[in-house]
Amino acid sequence: MLFLGMQTMDTWAEIEGKRMHDPLFLKQYQQKSEDSYMPASATTTSSSSKQCVMFPGPVIVGAGPSGLAVAACLKEKGIPSLVIERSDCIASLWQHKTYDRLSLHLPKKFCELPLMPFPFDFPPYPSKKQFVMYLEAYAKKFGINPSFNRTVISAEHDKTLGRWRLQVIGPNKEEEEHTCRWLIVATGENAETVTPEIEGLTGFSGPVVHTSMYKSGQHFEGKKVLVVGCGNSGMEVCLDLCNHNGQPHIVVRDTVHVLPREMLGQSTFGLSVWLLKWFPIEWVDRFLLLISWFMLGNTARFGLKRPNTGPLELKSETGKTPVLDVGTLSKIKSGDIKVKPAVKKIMGDRVEFIDGQTEEFDAVVLATGYKSNVPLWLKETEMFSEKDGLPRKPFPNGWKGGKGLYAVGFTRRGLMGASLDATRIAQDIEICWRRAGTYQHIIN
Ligand SMILES: Cc1cc2nc3c(=O)[nH]c(=O)nc-3n(C[C@H](O)[C@H](O)[C@H](O)COP(=O)(O)OP(=O)(O)OC[C@H]3O[C@@H](n4cnc5c(N)ncnc54)[C@H](O)[C@@H]3O)c2cc1C
Repeated sequence: MLFLGMQTMDTWAEIEGKRMHDPLFLKQYQQKSEDSYMPASATTTSSSSKQCVMFPGPVIVGAGPSGLAVAACLKEKGIPSLVIERSDCIASLWQHKTYDRLSLHLPKKFCELPLMPFPFDFPPYPSKKQFVMYLEAYAKKFGINPSFNRTVISAEHDKTLGRWRLQVIGPNKEEEEHTCRWLIVATGENAETVTPEIEGLTGFSGPVVHTSMYKSGQHFEGKKVLVVGCGNSGMEVCLDLCNHNGQPHIVVRDTVHVLPREMLGQSTFGLSVWLLKWFPIEWVDRFLLLISWFMLGNTARFGLKRPNTGPLELKSETGKTPVLDVGTLSKIKSGDIKVKPAVKKIMGDRVEFIDGQTEEFDAVVLATGYKSNVPLWLKETEMFSEKDGLPRKPFPNGWKGGKGLYAVGFTRRGLMGASLDATRIAQDIEICWRRAGTYQHIIN
């Protein structure tokens, strides 16, 4: 196992400062990492059990849109980064864990990553395939080659070394250790699925799938399906089931804001962003609810009661996203999708609801969302809350912690929030990076 003492640490910082700006080293590093991922041997040590890698630049955990965005912003400033990804591809959430009919929920101009717009000929709401194509082109443009099939199982700041130590499990279950001065957490708000605790769920006689495993309604043709959860995914899965001749029933436990995806010829999201520049949030909320009422009617009549707090205020206070309707509501109105209250318990294929009714179902789809996995691996509690794995400081201040720790994509503001974080992080790291460069000139 690699060990460096206090004195060695300063020497290391010096060497690191020099090497970071040494084009030959970087070229060699890049070449090596493209070939075999491991960097130049001078920064790699190994014991019989573990490979130890000292990376000169920031290490980014996660190769989703957030990880790619920050790697690109760093690259543009001439700062190399190492992206570690547990899956076998970039944007694994989009490639492996989303349903076929998914398109971006928000218009493309609010979803593009820094430094590269979507292709002009993409539709306003690109499909998941187009979004993945865009991300692949993005990674290629900025020469981002993540290290795939590597899971970070622990990361801790080493005071003596002045660096972060990461324990990583590689593709063949081998253990590796990486150290870095800057650690960027990009594992996302959707890293692990949330499964509700429902009595009897594990004994349900039919299939039970989380939306992360749901691909298409074609597998549920003619089946009576209970969809638990009424966020954007739950609503869209119901529509998909309808379109494949399934019989969806949606469980609506809480109040929910459903807004039309577009109003007054513009995207509801875009209009809200624009209105917020001029008016207080309560006024904009009232306006959105008024237009929604004209367009959708009183949603409470169909079992979708609205919260007392307006949609934007609720999003800002709790992170709860309003549902942007893409056609589900008209299917609820027509009775093709049935609304059900919360589930009390499940017995075999029979589901009992809290109003005492019981009904048989062929399958259950859990549209119950995701959570961060940061508390499972990051040994740090100042910046990240152990409770929900999100930064403790509210937006827009949650991106920076102490000791070179950063967070990208935890603002509950989607890809736009991630892009903002990425830009700020790269600017912040650049300052230290340039300082190290100046130091190099002095010692030369
Ligand atoms: C169905 C759906 C639709 C959405 N639509 C939109 C939209 O239209 N517009 C919008 O702005 N936002 C949207 N979002 C929200 C958000 O923008 C996306 O979830 C986006 O993918 C977040 O990017 P990310 O990189 O932060 O996280 P992710 O895409 O989740 O990427 C995180 C990566 O980290 C990896 N990882 C996790 N833990 C580890 C570990 N320990 N070691 C190594 N790697 C690890 C994961 O495998 C993953 O690849 C949507 C979300 C969902 C679920």
